[in-house]
Amino acid sequence: MRTPFIAGNWKMNLSVKEAVDFLNQLAGKLPDPSKTETAIAASPLFLESMVENSGDLPLIIAAENCFYEDSGAYTGETSPLALAEMGVTHVIIGHSERRKYFKETDDIINKKVQAAFRNGLTPIICCDETMSRRESPDRISWVVSQVTNALKGISDEQARTIIVAYEPSWAIGSGKTASASEAEEGCYLIRQTIADLYSDEIANEVRVLYGGSVNDSNSAEILSQNDIDGVLAGGASLKPDSFLKLANFL
Ligand code: PGA
Repeated sequence: MRTPFIAGNWKMNLSVKEAVDFLNQLAGKLPDPSKTETAIAASPLFLESMVENSGDLPLIIAAENCFYEDSGAYTGETSPLALAEMGVTHVIIGHSERRKYFKETDDIINKKVQAAFRNGLTPIICCDETMSRRESPDRISWVVSQVTNALKGISDEQARTIIVAYEPSWAIGSGKTASASEAEEGCYLIRQTIADLYSDEIANEVRVLYGGSVNDSNSAEILSQNDIDGVLAGGASLKPDSFLKLANFL
């Protein structure tokens, strides 16, 4: 049985004060983490305050990105070593916005996954699908190759712990959610790829999330699918009420 994983991705939104206020409003309202794990990924500018203010909340504080080197002359980058030192435990890697605006390639994403593991961070690896890819004959191979490339050099024991998100960019921020069956199809494909790369046993342990215009009115149907273990929500994670509805499956 895989524990559901409900994550918010704030992107470049909110302020430090709003982030701390948000956490204060979650007190006593998050699900039991043995039943559902919850996470918020935020800007590196907020993470220290968030770790300090999350106190006893059963909430994972995640970064939205990190660099693939631990330290050095990389102006403006976020060190995975510093994230881990700060108490951050998870990091989103390869979000479609990183691929699109920051030209992250599969090779860079793979190096970041390795950097996350080197520093004890759990990677939440995003797998993109543009509309043109979706409509093209190589759609399946494109999803498969993103997963395969991201996991190069990753051991069986590490692979068991990853979280992968099927995040079709045609559904992100567009208000156009993939239907539950489209979301399931993408998540199933990711799980099968992990089974082919590792084993059925490992694929059955890995949590696969769907992301793209998820909100409290469409999440129940999405979460009822066999291969979908949780969601990665952007817009719907920006208000405590709507994040709590997702987290509590309301
Ligand atoms: P959205 O973003 O929920 O606002 O579509 C999802 C994501 O980018 O992770």
